[in-house]
Amino acid sequence: MNILLSNDDGVSAPGLKALARAMASLGTLTVVAPDRNRSGASNSLTLEHPVRIHPVEPGWFAVTGTPTDCVHLAVSGFLTEPQHLVLSGINDGANLGDDVLYSGTVAAAIEARHLGLPTLALSLCVESGRHFDAAARIARELVDGLLARPMPEALILNVNIPDLPYEAIKGIQATRLGARHRADRVVEISDPRGRPLYWVGAVGGGADAGPGTDFHAIEHGYVSVTPLSIDMTQHSAVGGVADWLALFRR
Ligand code: MN
Repeated sequence: MNILLSNDDGVSAPGLKALARAMASLGTLTVVAPDRNRSGASNSLTLEHPVRIHPVEPGWFAVTGTPTDCVHLAVSGFLTEPQHLVLSGINDGANLGDDVLYSGTVAAAIEARHLGLPTLALSLCVESGRHFDAAARIARELVDGLLARPMPEALILNVNIPDLPYEAIKGIQATRLGARHRADRVVEISDPRGRPLYWVGAVGGGADAGPGTDFHAIEHGYVSVTPLSIDMTQHSAVGGVADWLALFRR
């Protein structure tokens, strides 16, 4: 079996290395990942200039592009062998609730799904421990399960893992996305010449974070597995919009 690994933290990120160690005995791994941290890249695709792929070590490649570029290039021409599974992560940080809209980790998995491949996006909800090896062990268990018993439908599975020792993880829950409070205000600083610079503020805490949500599972020491769909249509509102548009009918 051929497994493609990618991430958004960059090719040298510890979470990616832990993931590769955990999957090594499963098949032939190829890592195609950004050459630097591209967290927050979402589904961006590099269209206005070419992208280079640099070999790092055998089977490991650094790309001067986004996570979406990495999966797209790897599956659509760069790799000669067909890939059977795409794993993205393990991200250094949670991808809960609205985070999935900004996440490059999730974007790499979305691109894999677009290309017809089963996929997991994996994120460690980093606190103080940075238990990447425990998270990688969970990832391996999920992959083993996925191979033994494939999903009935084509899904993107967004997996968040609490930052705990393996033995302290309570279990695995199927969840829905919660939602965060809005982020802190942007932070204004100044450069050495007194000109203003801005940093995006810290993410907000869980707002819609009750039982059944990804936030709730993580808060209580469980791995959260959320199936994602890409159809962002609000189906229940299509009729209302049609009524509203009738006002403009010519
Ligand atoms: Mn990241």
